[in-house]
Amino acid sequence: MTRRVLLLGSTGSIGAAALDVARALRDEIEIVGLAAGNSWEKLAAQALEFGVRSVAIADAARANDLRRRLPAETRVFAGAAGLVDLVRETDADFVLAAIVGAAGLPATLAAVERGLDIGLANKESLVVAGSILMPLVKSNGGKLIPIDSEHSAIFQAMHAGRPEEVRRIYLTASGGPFRTWNAEKIADATLEQALDHPVWSMGPKITIDSATMMNKALEIVEAHHLFGLRVDQIEVLIHPESIVHSMVEFADGSLIAQLGTPDMRTPIQYAMTFPHRKAAVAPTLCWKQARRLHFEPPDAQRFPALRLGFEAARAGGTSGAVFNAANEAAVEAFRAARIGFGRITTLIEQTLRRHALIASPTLEELLAADAWARQEVERCIER
Ligand code: NAD
Ligand code: MG
Repeated sequence: MTRRVLLLGSTGSIGAAALDVARALRDEIEIVGLAAGNSWEKLAAQALEFGVRSVAIADAARANDLRRRLPAETRVFAGAAGLVDLVRETDADFVLAAIVGAAGLPATLAAVERGLDIGLANKESLVVAGSILMPLVKSNGGKLIPIDSEHSAIFQAMHAGRPEEVRRIYLTASGGPFRTWNAEKIADATLEQALDHPVWSMGPKITIDSATMMNKALEIVEAHHLFGLRVDQIEVLIHPESIVHSMVEFADGSLIAQLGTPDMRTPIQYAMTFPHRKAAVAPTLCWKQARRLHFEPPDAQRFPALRLGFEAARAGGTSGAVFNAANEAAVEAFRAARIGFGRITTLIEQTLRRHALIASPTLEELLAADAWARQEVERCIER
């Protein structure tokens, strides 16, 4: 039976990888809906290639261009609300959430509310609102399958035992482009240097997050919500080759890991075909080229983001929303050359410190905390 997939964020890096998987697995996967931010021409080309009848574009000003390019019977949804309508109204079995940032939360939430199975790349959704999303996933009956490579690895390794038998997990991290740099050099890194990831080819925001190690910090919060683990059960391990995608340590001392090439098509394919496994779309590991694997402890001095990630996860409540929004605002400011690289993490820390925690927030309070954090970063930059 084919799985009807709604792909949100189709014009991005994960979106392109997901369409690659869909092309290779035509008998298993049918793309029934596509959504993007503003690249309407790319979106139109994808809709035509896959014969998709429902599309959404967040930038409403582009909706008419998109309509003109597509067959008359295509439904074109527009604006942020249009994305949510696409999720609510399209006949689908599976939603692949690959929008970048907290902007992806409303659509993820709509998919959870419909009880659809979800492949989640949009980690920011969970960091902001894990406390609301996870209970809803349980009560509404859909499955939430992580696509982040580390969390996919842990999800797969978890099948080797029972949740209560897990002692801890190790999230692996490549260490990013500045793994071997000293603190002064990191603080002065340029945009070009931050965008030059040694292993993974990804969208610009997550690539910068990898350079600050905020990506791993967000993943700590993500894992905490996704697997219901205590924060002291989560460890980070630097593994420059990015072949061991993460590991679970069980009570008896056995470590179960998932290994593979650093190619997002593998976890995307796994999520889209779960619980089955189909022939690999991505290149598989050749051991002649990967005979040595290195591991080292992370350096909290040079990468303070990790400490902040553990703090935000421990504090809970509105902390995740503030942590994520401050990062998004600071990364945007860095990309616009308004602040230096070193300032990203400092701004996040200052914003976390100033924030008045709400321990059990409603969705509205989470969104308000997100908005407050963005303004607070702006105020700090202008000061
Ligand atoms: P990207 O920047 O390449 O693509 C982002 C997509 O989101 C695009 O299709 C864009 O049009 C869409 N988008 C942006 N703003 C939007 C908005 N306001 N409304 C609707 N759509 C919007 O990003 P990416 O690298 O593909 O990452 C997507 C998500 O997957 C992120 O949450 C990222 O952390 C996560 N992720 C990515 C990778 C990777 O290898 N790229 C790995 C793990 C996790
Ligand atoms: Mg990851």
